[in-house]
Amino acid sequence: MEKRLASKDWLSLDGINRAQIILVAKKLKSGTIVSGNSVTKRLIKKLGLYFIEKTINGHKIFTISKNKSILTKFKKNKNKNPKVIGKFLSYPPCCVKEYSRKRTKKEIESYKKGNKKLSYKLGRQISLLIRKKKNYPEYLNFCPPTFTPCDIHCKNAKKILLNWKESLIKEDPTAAKKLEEFNINSNKKSN
Ligand SMILES: [Zn+2]
Repeated sequence: MEKRLASKDWLSLDGINRAQIILVAKKLKSGTIVSGNSVTKRLIKKLGLYFIEKTINGHKIFTISKNKSILTKFKKNKNKNPKVIGKFLSYPPCCVKEYSRKRTKKEIESYKKGNKKLSYKLGRQISLLIRKKKNYPEYLNFCPPTFTPCDIHCKNAKKILLNWKESLIKEDPTAAKKLEEFNINSNKKSN
């Protein structure tokens, strides 16, 4: 673990945001969008990352990348369709396609009932596995909150998530733990 990822300031930031920033700093993700404050801003700069700061409803939102031209290109693209956002966040195209397709009536029903997970194929697959086997592939607990793999067997998602998991556990174990807990809890909720 790097010294700057062990500082008191760094550890004061939200663990899930830290996880996403680390993956960008380590070039395992081309960009991320996180909420934050003046401490976040200072640390993003310290990590040598480029960012765009916006205030939405009183909350500071940072769009971050290690690559200036990727960030500029993303900023210039006014019509940010899911494909553009997915590419910026380094999510596999197959997963972005499945996530952004038109929902079926049944899926819309689940969503309206507050069971968002069941309106996606992955959520239904995980839910079934939890009921039948009380378990699911644990690398899925390293999904950033906005990432939904297209299928529990998606090889592209597996590859990327195993990389992210390894790096996070090495660089910031408590941030890795936070992300894991977030996913475990949200997967539990869909049952
Ligand atoms: Zn996929």
